[in-house]
Amino acid sequence: MRVLVVEDEAKLAGLLGRGLREEGHTTDVAGRGEDALWMARATPYDVVVLDVMLPGLDGFATCRQLREAEIWTPVLMLTARDAVDDRVRGLDAGADDYLVKPFSFAELLARLRALARRTPHERPTVLEVGELRLDPAGRRVWRGATELELSPKEFALLEVFMRRPGQALSRLDLIERAWDLAYEQRSNVVDVYVRYLREKVDRPFGRHSIETVRGVGYRLQGDA
Ligand code: CA
Repeated sequence: MRVLVVEDEAKLAGLLGRGLREEGHTTDVAGRGEDALWMARATPYDVVVLDVMLPGLDGFATCRQLREAEIWTPVLMLTARDAVDDRVRGLDAGADDYLVKPFSFAELLARLRALARRTPHERPTVLEVGELRLDPAGRRVWRGATELELSPKEFALLEVFMRRPGQALSRLDLIERAWDLAYEQRSNVVDVYVRYLREKVDRPFGRHSIETVRGVGYRLQGDA
């Protein structure tokens, strides 16, 4: 999934960004609420991790402004202390969940997965499209009984397709959802990775589940 981390403490922000990327999540980091607002407007994040204590706009104000801008991306609020007041204020500002610092990385990951499942409607923990199954928590993919070995980027791209079966997705849609802002700007990067994916997901099985949609981009067949 694609995650936006908003935290001004460079050390924690760096740690979270690195940890999430190692788990295969496409992750951007913002140090200020003001930056988070334009980034969340420009990019379809699956989840925002938002620290309460920020310079300038704090986490509460940032969350409220996101909701006022009709951005409904789930927000996981990080609160510095276990103050009931902070939790209530966070939820009132439109946050979906909160985590009290210090927290374990494993718990953060589990909360993020739960939030990503929640929108726009409840989603199963393992995605299934035809014979393809993808387990976001375990980072595993199967076609039928065969487990497939995908690179982190191939996995991220397949997850984007599997969350939207049957939908034609443009190259821009795919870049926005599977690549972070620092991605290597190559016009054909999506085509290259779709080719890699087909080599692993389709070709060995004689299938053509990832279709080219002329003039648009690509689509994963709903009954792939
Ligand atoms: Ca902070």
